[in-house]
Amino acid sequence: MSKLDYYDVLGVSKNASEDEIKKAYRKKAMKFHPDRNSDDPEAERKFKEASEAYEVLGDEQKRQRYDQFGHRGVNGGGGAAGFEDIGFEDIFSRFSDIFGGDFGGGRSRSRGRRSSGQPGSDMKLRIELSLEEIAFGTEKKLKVKKQIKCDECNGTGAESEEDFEMCGTCNGTGEVRQVRKTMLGQMVNVQPCPECRGEGRIIRNKCSKCHGEGRYRGEKTVKVNVPSGVSEGNYITLRGKGNAGKRGGEAGSLVVLIEEKEHEHFERDGNDIYYDLVLSVPDAVLGTEVQVPTLKGKAKINIEPGIQPGKLLRMSEKGIHGLNRSGIGDQYVRVNVYIPKDLSDEEREHVEALRGNDHFKASNREDDGKGFFSKIKDVFT
Ligand SMILES: [Zn+2]
Ligand SMILES: [Zn+2]
Repeated sequence: MSKLDYYDVLGVSKNASEDEIKKAYRKKAMKFHPDRNSDDPEAERKFKEASEAYEVLGDEQKRQRYDQFGHRGVNGGGGAAGFEDIGFEDIFSRFSDIFGGDFGGGRSRSRGRRSSGQPGSDMKLRIELSLEEIAFGTEKKLKVKKQIKCDECNGTGAESEEDFEMCGTCNGTGEVRQVRKTMLGQMVNVQPCPECRGEGRIIRNKCSKCHGEGRYRGEKTVKVNVPSGVSEGNYITLRGKGNAGKRGGEAGSLVVLIEEKEHEHFERDGNDIYYDLVLSVPDAVLGTEVQVPTLKGKAKINIEPGIQPGKLLRMSEKGIHGLNRSGIGDQYVRVNVYIPKDLSDEEREHVEALRGNDHFKASNREDDGKGFFSKIKDVFT
């Protein structure tokens, strides 16, 4: 399977700047995002292609390898990592990295000093959000127990900068070569140096706080900006906010999984929300003004005389603010009428009297019949 050129996929030149690449990706991703092109496999394919291209071209090191070696340079040589491997959740996390503003800001990590220590592991965390938090986006502060970079030695693991010495076993290269003579000739086997574990240097005096690890277990508060419109199962990847690496190694990612709390009043359907309003018989017959809860406190709505059960009243743009400014949902108020039971004798008499009245006969329903139930009416608050 021959693959498209990543530069062509994003429509940028070979010497495009980091910014140009980011902008080009943003444009493509917006255009082909599955949220906007549901059931269009062509758009989904293009979205995945753009995501894969950005995954490589948006990362300085990967881009360099790609420029040098082409697809082989970034696919681990096997060429097996096709577009199909990218699950949607995966793309979502990448997508939010670029669209959600400051999602950790890990993009620049490839530019820092190349560190020799072992990278830290990724972490997963769940957060429960109320519908209100989801509707407008929120900032959460999470207390995370994890490996923290040692502030005493700045992650080096040594008491001071002078406490390092070059590893004698590998002469600072971090690698050892073994040359073996075989029937086929000389074979060279390169392995990480066992003495310094590939770091090329050895610590003479270990930092007393972290015992040479360059990190220690502790608790840190991590800020997460959750954009509006997220759903259960979405996640946000905060690069560099996971466990700190050993002796200055890159920190892992903190993956924050979104869970949605059930709401006491509302059901969610995409960006819309539904509220069940129950009216008394007199209120439904005579009309009234009622207060309904919204995601931003209470609001008054007018109930017209003769309103029918099943009617949907739309409160425009009172729903959830969609992900990546994809629009604002509505709030629907579903009208129900409470039918009383266990009447007193006097109440029974009143209702009995109504039974014979013309306007209380079911056959007197207006001629729009079935239309009653599906009709949506906009209300203004
Ligand atoms: Zn330390
Ligand atoms: Zn060594």
